[in-house]
Amino acid sequence: MAPQMTRMAIVDEDRCSPKKSRQECYKACIIVKTGKLCIEVNPASKLAFISEELCIGCGICVKVGRYLKI
Ligand code: SF4
Repeated sequence: MAPQMTRMAIVDEDRCSPKKSRQECYKACIIVKTGKLCIEVNPASKLAFISEELCIGCGICVKVGRYLKI
């Protein structure tokens, strides 16, 4: 059986700027809302970090966070 392809959000490193944003991606993530650290970011972060293990590729953060892509 072929391995299952998974989708996940990735950070656009050239555009992600936690210092200037309000961490909209973190606030919108449905996995973060369950208490798991799918996205780790705060104003002092250099970049948002997205967990490969936890992200389900739902795309919600991409719609609200301008610097993420699927
Ligand atoms: S794609 Fe969905 S699960 Fe993955 S980081 Fe974004 S909001 Fe969270």
